[in-house]
Amino acid sequence: MFVFNRIRTFYKVTNCKCKFNYHTLNNPTTSLIKKYPYSMNNFASQRSDSKQCWKCGLERKNTENLFCKECNALQNPVEPNNYFKLFSLEEEFNIDSKQLHNIYRKLQSYLHPDKFSNKSDEEKEISANYSSLINKAYNNLQVPLKRAVHLLQLKGNKLNEDQKIDDPDFLMEMMELNEEFDDTDDVNKLKDLDIKNKNQLENIVKQIDECFKEGNLTQAKFYVIKMKYYASLNNRINARLRELGIVD
Ligand SMILES: [Zn+2]
Repeated sequence: MFVFNRIRTFYKVTNCKCKFNYHTLNNPTTSLIKKYPYSMNNFASQRSDSKQCWKCGLERKNTENLFCKECNALQNPVEPNNYFKLFSLEEEFNIDSKQLHNIYRKLQSYLHPDKFSNKSDEEKEISANYSSLINKAYNNLQVPLKRAVHLLQLKGNKLNEDQKIDDPDFLMEMMELNEEFDDTDDVNKLKDLDIKNKNQLENIVKQIDECFKEGNLTQAKFYVIKMKYYASLNNRINARLRELGIVD
């Protein structure tokens, strides 16, 4: 319920009668607009300024609102590097993918270029950047491995790209699974391997979820590294099954 309330607040952009708050806002002549360079890379540098409307200077009390309550201008995200906050979601590994998808669609409908066709160039640019950011965030939140990596980073436990795992038994098991995959063209064997690997992925997702819930980030990280191996094999199997026309 709490989450839903937050989302409701998120979309309650103004007290006006217009549900989507797209009315008005023409002729933004204020020089404040010129203050900001509008590129994706500059979202982060705008963070401290994002607590005020870039156009009219009004203090943004609810920084999750997309639009300024006073002048209706689209605002830059306050924390562009936090994908959970962009979606008004709790910073938790276990998320409702249907809810994520619904929020994504709503956000993209608010940020659709058509909605800004009569707006200033500045707002067009903010909306385009915002929309790209939402796509990127969605792609990261949607995939459990990417979501876990992002969450670890937010919690100050960044995973290095080349981080290895110190577990010889596990490494041996993965090597054997990959060899099994390399050595077969038999469709049924591939399907069996696919099921087996997907089960492993499901189990590890549960373990990662438990670790995050317990706040055990070291262990979460350990499982996330393991997950990378299973995910990599999963990608290889899927690619082969696609080649064979077994899956889309
Ligand atoms: Zn404003």
